Amino acid sequence: MHDLQLAAGGRLRHLITLAGMPRATIERLLERAEAMRRDSQGGARPLDLLDGRTLINLFFEPSTRTRTSFDLAAQRLGALVINFDIERSSTVKGESLLDTIHTLEAMHCDAFVVRHKESGTPETIARNLRSNAAVLNAGDGNHAHPTQGLLDALTLRRRVEDFSKLSIVICGDIRHSRVARSDVDVLRTLGVRDLRLCAPPELLPQSDAAEFAQCSFVHTLDQAIVDCDAAIMLRLQKERMEAAAIPSEADYFARYGLDAARLARAKPGCVVMHPGPINRNVEIADEVADGAQSLILEQVSNGVFARMAVLAELLERR
Ligand code: ASP
Repeated sequence: MHDLQLAAGGRLRHLITLAGMPRATIERLLERAEAMRRDSQGGARPLDLLDGRTLINLFFEPSTRTRTSFDLAAQRLGALVINFDIERSSTVKGESLLDTIHTLEAMHCDAFVVRHKESGTPETIARNLRSNAAVLNAGDGNHAHPTQGLLDALTLRRRVEDFSKLSIVICGDIRHSRVARSDVDVLRTLGVRDLRLCAPPELLPQSDAAEFAQCSFVHTLDQAIVDCDAAIMLRLQKERMEAAAIPSEADYFARYGLDAARLARAKPGCVVMHPGPINRNVEIADEVADGAQSLILEQVSNGVFARMAVLAELLERR
């Protein structure tokens, strides 16, 4: 993957995964995201770093936050954005994915932002391009969601100095979650040592899954959250589950939902995160989602700056 993602000299060529991404690259992107926040005055002032560049959003799965924030990030940097409408495109007439990509490339574009239900699709596109376009993975199957990992790290970094001292629990449907994988990649690289994964057994990955090596697996949230500095809650990815395996929401909330009583078992001030969309009172109680320790909307704001940083890194003319 690194041959594909990183050009000689360590420059980012595509963004497919955070797995194996050097710490220096991650830190550069996080610094740049902070610079974007400052230079754009929190998003109020447009920048012109990507004037004349064209980005195409290709979302084969639904999205609110990721798609809107890529769109805003690119526009705030001066790029032209096309939100490709899959439902009204020739995809519904059976045109293949790669034929679609080559068609769009023939009109000239500088980047494709791709979300797809099949893991590996952004990589396949990147390997089959006929132009110099960059591919940005906006979430593929259960494989990776690298800009979510970056924005989550950015959100935590604003609160903590030393990642190596943090205890973090990631709770929910880890088996089907690309967010969990990208979060583990980035948090490990930044030095987090105590990373706990918590889910019902049927929603945990195999305990020997390489991507979760060195994480601890804990089956109850009551136990997993004790003394944590951060709790990252995940959505039940019903669209990736067999109908029979979908847990009852009430049972799930009773055992894995984050309410105020459970949160009180963590360190005082433990922050609460969720990539969204949240299922209220399934993964997280209203009182916690809307409470003082919740960073959920801050994550959303940070998503724009993280994506501005990535787009500038990939597309800025040097
Ligand atoms: N929005 C995130 C994703 O697309 C998380 C989720 O959908 O649960 O992966």
